[in-house]
Amino acid sequence: MKNVKKLSNKEPTKDISRDDLKSKIPLSTSKKKRIVKISKNLSFGGDKLPIIAGPNGVESKKLMIDVAKQLKKNNIHIIRGHAYKPLTFPYRSKQYSESRDKGMDIMDEIKKDFGLLVVTEVTELRFLERINKTADILQIGSRNMQNLELIKKIASTNKPIILKRHFGSSIRDLLGAAEHILLEGNSNLILCERGMSIPHTHRSTSRFALDIQAIPALKEISCLPVISDPSHASFWAPWVPSLTYASIAAGCDGLIIEIHPNPKKSHVDPLQPLNFNQFKQLITKSKKISILFNKKII
Ligand code: PEP
Ligand code: MN
Repeated sequence: MKNVKKLSNKEPTKDISRDDLKSKIPLSTSKKKRIVKISKNLSFGGDKLPIIAGPNGVESKKLMIDVAKQLKKNNIHIIRGHAYKPLTFPYRSKQYSESRDKGMDIMDEIKKDFGLLVVTEVTELRFLERINKTADILQIGSRNMQNLELIKKIASTNKPIILKRHFGSSIRDLLGAAEHILLEGNSNLILCERGMSIPHTHRSTSRFALDIQAIPALKEISCLPVISDPSHASFWAPWVPSLTYASIAAGCDGLIIEIHPNPKKSHVDPLQPLNFNQFKQLITKSKKISILFNKKII
């Protein structure tokens, strides 16, 4: 009970104590808000709201060209696509294979031909060197959130990083992982809410549940930009638009949206990506909504 007494109503959140702020997560909860600059006109955490879009995996050059064209049409500047993929289950459809270094070569061409910035996930230390040559932002996937050796090595590149919250982790744990990166000297860090595992998720209606409340909670306590990934949270394309709009209203600093020219043919998670038409509508509406929250979609 002694500890309980020390907590006052001024505590920033229920499970993070004032002592945590001082001794465990001082860097990630600094009072000075961080703006993570990616390029001359693009940053997370200020008045812009960048959208990162692309397929789940870098399946082929044609796919990435098709996607890149759509991003250009919608004035979106960051393309995503993983060439190294963490998989929940070891069995795969015959068409699926990781494109790995070949996928990174494709991304190099996309950068050159379309002037887009690239986000891709680093799943293992042995891939870091190759990925670092191409990616403008390194993603740490939810499954690796607390893989400390990996995340510290990724931090040491000094590249901007997206750290995804593990679907079973508290905000305290997420900030603990963020603290490791910041302590490594890399403050180009963006946090990502991508849904939690909650008891109902064994049902076919939902895989994870987007913790919309995590967005204002993180914005309140942390100095870091917070982005939202409604695609991986819902696993279900029809819900992605409403969760996107809710994330904007909740104060997110950016979004990750999975898209594919023919979602049914996506090698992984085909229920999840928006098609190009749906993506266009989502961008149009997001632009209108973000104005209400003093943010500009780019
Ligand atoms: C992804 O971005 O493709 C991905 C696998 O995300 P998460 O780590 O959130 O599952
Ligand atoms: Mn994915």
